[in-house]
Amino acid sequence: MTAVSCLTGNQREIQALAREFAMKEVFSLANELDPLSKEMPDELIRKMGEIGFFGVMVPEEHGGLGLGVLEYALVTEELSRAWMSVGSIIRCGSLPRGLRRDRLAELQPKAARGEYLGAFSLSEPEAGSDVANLTCRAELRDGHWILNGAKMWCTFADRADYIILFARTSRVPANGKRHQGISAFFIEKDSGSFPQGMQATPVRKIGYHGWQTFELGLSDVRLPEPALLGEEGKGFYIGMVTLDVARIHTAARAVGVARGALEDAIEYAKQRVQFGRPIADFQAIRFKIACMAAEIEAARSLTHDACRLYDAGLPCSQEASMAKYIASEMAERVTSEGLHIHGGAGYTTDFAAQRYWRDARLTKIFEGTSEIQLRILSDTLLGKAESSE
Ligand SMILES: Cc1cc2nc3c(=O)[nH]c(=O)nc-3n(C[C@H](O)[C@H](O)[C@H](O)COP(=O)(O)OP(=O)(O)OC[C@H]3O[C@@H](n4cnc5c(N)ncnc54)[C@H](O)[C@@H]3O)c2cc1C
Repeated sequence: MTAVSCLTGNQREIQALAREFAMKEVFSLANELDPLSKEMPDELIRKMGEIGFFGVMVPEEHGGLGLGVLEYALVTEELSRAWMSVGSIIRCGSLPRGLRRDRLAELQPKAARGEYLGAFSLSEPEAGSDVANLTCRAELRDGHWILNGAKMWCTFADRADYIILFARTSRVPANGKRHQGISAFFIEKDSGSFPQGMQATPVRKIGYHGWQTFELGLSDVRLPEPALLGEEGKGFYIGMVTLDVARIHTAARAVGVARGALEDAIEYAKQRVQFGRPIADFQAIRFKIACMAAEIEAARSLTHDACRLYDAGLPCSQEASMAKYIASEMAERVTSEGLHIHGGAGYTTDFAAQRYWRDARLTKIFEGTSEIQLRILSDTLLGKAESSE
């Protein structure tokens, strides 16, 4: 029984809806814009908002669809099959924990409609895998927070309506626990601009086009006191609390992009003729395609298992890490095979095979690299190593 055959009628419906949208509205746009490193248009975001893609997991009373993480993963896979950046942007419709209730009630319905989208700024030049090493500082002066420092890799920072940004509000305590003293801030801004004191430099990426990723320099960025999210010094937990969903989301993105590689490879292999017959007749190609399909199905099943645990309210951190690790490693292999099946054509921007390969490569890096997932899993299996924190 495949992962998909275990879905309910409603789950199949939302999957079919997302599939139709992805292949009608997203796929050709991705093929046109990605080679030019261009951004996804506002009109696409508006259409996605109308359908409800930004609010899959948002409760109905806040204007969302009120569904589970499994439905979120199904939508993510379909959109990512067409363009991973589009499967990624749907997460920008979820507001952060720690937001005051009245603000949540005001903003969440807009966010669920895709009209109020956020960016997330945790990473820094010297704090990537080791996020607790962050040094960006925030000080409370005369009723305002003043932020100084550097952030790295903030995707969508320009077009977002707000940025959730992490900064240190107190020194590392004597107990050496570096995650203490980090606070989270809700920086509201106009879409298309940056707050005063924030300089943004786009990163020159090799993929994940459709939106820009920025290095941010903060010099005396001034925020009103209520911009602090939750308790001062406890911001690290705001960042970490959504990690299971973020890892499941990334696993689903990896499965989606790998499926794109498989479907395109099948189509190409059937029509490309060499030695007088379609290359799909050669066993070397047939076995590659069979392996790709088997690997995708295994990663999807693991991802859906993690979703079902999460939706049942059960712990799923291990399973989410495993799914993220397995799916992203799989996606790199499968998209590379997809490119190979296209021969020289796969190495051109005339086919999407190279786009899947470039995007799949990223799933091994963000939301915790493969090594960080293995570290989490081995710490659970073996206990922490003496040399680690
Ligand atoms: C295109 C793109 C978009 C991004 N968007 C965002 C965003 O919107 N917001 C945001 O906050 N961040 C974002 N990120 C940042 C991303 O999460 C980090 O790149 C990631 O966490 C890795 O950090 P790093 O790049 O500093 O690599 P490093 O941490 O420097 O890692 C370098 C290498 O060392 C390995 N390594 C590190 N520590 C260990 C260890 N303990 N054991 C074994 N190996 C280890 C890593 O696995 C990796 O192979 C984005 C990154 C990219 C590339």
